[in-house]
Amino acid sequence: ATPTSVMVGTGRGAQLGVLIKNGAALEAASKVKTLVFDKTGTLTHGKPELVAVVPLGEFAPGGGEDAGGVVLRMAASLESVSEHPLAAAVVRGARERGLELMPVRDFEAVPGKGVQGVVDGRTVRIGNEAFVLPQEEGTLSAQGAEGRVAGDVRDGMDEQANMGRTPLLVSVDGKVAALLSVADTLKQEAPGVVRRLKDMGIAVVMLTGDNARTARAVAAEAGIDEVIAGVMPDQKDAAIAALQEKSAGVGMVGDGINDAPALARADVGIAMGTGIDVAVEAGDIVLMKGALGGVLTALALSRATVANIR
Ligand code: ADP
Ligand code: MG
Repeated sequence: ATPTSVMVGTGRGAQLGVLIKNGAALEAASKVKTLVFDKTGTLTHGKPELVAVVPLGEFAPGGGEDAGGVVLRMAASLESVSEHPLAAAVVRGARERGLELMPVRDFEAVPGKGVQGVVDGRTVRIGNEAFVLPQEEGTLSAQGAEGRVAGDVRDGMDEQANMGRTPLLVSVDGKVAALLSVADTLKQEAPGVVRRLKDMGIAVVMLTGDNARTARAVAAEAGIDEVIAGVMPDQKDAAIAALQEKSAGVGMVGDGINDAPALARADVGIAMGTGIDVAVEAGDIVLMKGALGGVLTALALSRATVANIR
């Protein structure tokens, strides 16, 4: 790439809110054949909302007091220590219901899984099934089905996931205490961007730590057919490497702290400018306004610039 054409290309990008860090990034972007999108905060707004609280076990309705409020208060207290977007949704949900948060001891976060801590003298866990259930040692359900969550709880989780919502389980002292559901809406522009990418001959993939059912529902809404779900944060860059074995020119679009290694591993990393600094640093291209349409601008501009050079 000649310095002049690179300058013109990157200059034009900057005017359009697409920061292309150097000529190599421009060149790599022009060769993208597969583009991988993170889900939360990239395809979705990343501002999830608590949409359902189902108290279970000792907290199941009928106990007189507002059992749902009691368990949500414990869960939200715990999540107030976490920095995860799902945690913020649970905390906002509790505040909206007028619940006051309590202090937390012995807080622990397990990336890609959930959090644990002691609230009001009781050990509380919140997170995905794989994280919360093993605590129950064989009798995982409120009703005691072995090794699995009770049928109706499982149905409730599946139902939420099929709608593209993320189901979370809460346990108190090792017993399932509530099913929470968190909804994060798809960015309006996502389906259009995916369609245009496919028209450009680019394969589009979703990569997420969220469960497969939720991921597939959100992907379907966006028009994405290939989904890699349930990927632990430290495995996202390995997932990119695996795609690089199969396809030349693998790009990654992401926003979160979990995405930084994947952005770095990809042939071109595109960071949402609204994301956190680590991602912005790891990206070769930064979409300044966090607008997903910037992906199209970046690819079209890079193709045009590189075509000009040759
Ligand atoms: P993503 O790839 O969508 O950004 P993460 O890898 O950060 O997702 O998290 C994967 C899953 O781990 C979440 O969908 C959730 O089930 C669980 N999880 C992680 N942290 C938390 C938390 N603080 N509270 C509840 N669940 C959590
Ligand atoms: Mg994310």
